[in-house]
Amino acid sequence: MVFENPLIKDILEKYRVIWALGHAMALMGWDSETYMPREGVKDRAVARAELALLQQQLLLKPELVELVEKADKIENLNDYEKGVVRVLKRSIRIAKALPPWLVAERAKVTQEAMVVWREAKARNNFELFKPYLEKIFDLSRKTADYLGWEKHPYDALLDLYEEGLKTEDVDKILGFLKNNLKQIIDKVLSEGRFPREHPLEKIQYDVRKMELVNQKILEILNYPMGTRGRLDTSAHPFTIDMGINDVRITTRYEGVDFKRTMFSVIHEFGHALYQLQIDPSLAYTPIGEGVSLGVHEGQSRFWENIIGRSREFVELIYPVLREHLDFIKQYTPDDLYYYFNTVKPSFIRVDADEVTYNIHILLRTELEKQALTGEVKIPDLPELWNDYMEKLLGIKPRTYSEGILQDIHWSMGSIGYFPTYTLGNIIAASMRYAMENEIKLKEKIANSEFKIIQDWQRSKIHRYGSTYPPKVLLRKAIGVDYEPEHLIKYLSEKYLSAP
Ligand code: MG
Repeated sequence: MVFENPLIKDILEKYRVIWALGHAMALMGWDSETYMPREGVKDRAVARAELALLQQQLLLKPELVELVEKADKIENLNDYEKGVVRVLKRSIRIAKALPPWLVAERAKVTQEAMVVWREAKARNNFELFKPYLEKIFDLSRKTADYLGWEKHPYDALLDLYEEGLKTEDVDKILGFLKNNLKQIIDKVLSEGRFPREHPLEKIQYDVRKMELVNQKILEILNYPMGTRGRLDTSAHPFTIDMGINDVRITTRYEGVDFKRTMFSVIHEFGHALYQLQIDPSLAYTPIGEGVSLGVHEGQSRFWENIIGRSREFVELIYPVLREHLDFIKQYTPDDLYYYFNTVKPSFIRVDADEVTYNIHILLRTELEKQALTGEVKIPDLPELWNDYMEKLLGIKPRTYSEGILQDIHWSMGSIGYFPTYTLGNIIAASMRYAMENEIKLKEKIANSEFKIIQDWQRSKIHRYGSTYPPKVLLRKAIGVDYEPEHLIKYLSEKYLSAP
């Protein structure tokens, strides 16, 4: 048995209803993005807000809080039991720190801001969004102050997405990447072996045939379609879990440039696999979830980039692509490899390749930090954004929509979220080197032995859910936590030396 301590068992008993509410809200969220009729949106928002409030009240019930405090003093808990106490203590601390007026104000402002952001982006009008962005940074600063911080207010916000992450960690990681990435980008572009564009980007595909391709790829990757998972269509691809046995992914079909939908499927598959491989005995508990956004993104980037964009994988799926997509027969696996791995400085983060991607994160993180402390005023942000882009990638956005207004995150109040994308890229590269040593990764991809790769992930990372904090888990699994040198090594090997 994983949980033996009677006090912990008591806590878990009380926690089940909180889990059940989470389960219901996840299903409601999935439905909102996939099949719900459009006008259902208002009632759904009301229902979800009510349930979220109820969940919060249950979490802060004195009986539960007291049990957690008591359990925190027990000395001989096992790792899983300690994990339960750590995760609940953290949730309770965060919930207690934020006054109800602030929670309500944030909810109200971000709900409006998301609508205004959409319009501002469509109309290329920063003035429209500016007052909301000012309010959001102001509320974020207040949030940080209520949560508490020592060296930098950004610390408090980072921790919400990546437990224990500090501004100084982020500065160190991004500082290292900045210098090294610039060199790699310049070299890849001047060598020209990886093209900036590819004719396949313009080729239209039949959506129904592409659906078959996506399903076939998920089958190759052992996704339990229909038994524990589903693939549906939504405006923005995502993964959502209703627990350990119902983990769903979505994609979208642009009708052109088939790698977009294909890699979004492989990316979301990586997220889903994490949840699917959590130890079943952690079900209904606070630790039956992936531990952080960075570790989660590490899993998705690993499948999308390290596996999905490798030569071995291209060779493996080539027959599937050729069978379903008529236009593929004009191209060799080698052509496809370069189509999957174009490199060019671009304005839009979500379209960026592996080499330039982290520059986009660097920029946002720098601006977030400065806007949060007030070092930079919100009206000056667009100009700063553009200057930064020009300095780092040599291109200057011509519109707000391809500059500061491109991402939804700030309108949602998600300040401190962006760095977790880069952590994910770093973790994926570290996993690659650990696996290469232990299980000969490339050989396994070439032979379609994905089960062995997945077993590695399960036994080292996935099965623990949130039992250990991110850094502890990573050190146990791969010997390091966030090691940017691995990402630089991976990119150099792939883009600069290999033939
Ligand atoms: Mg992701």
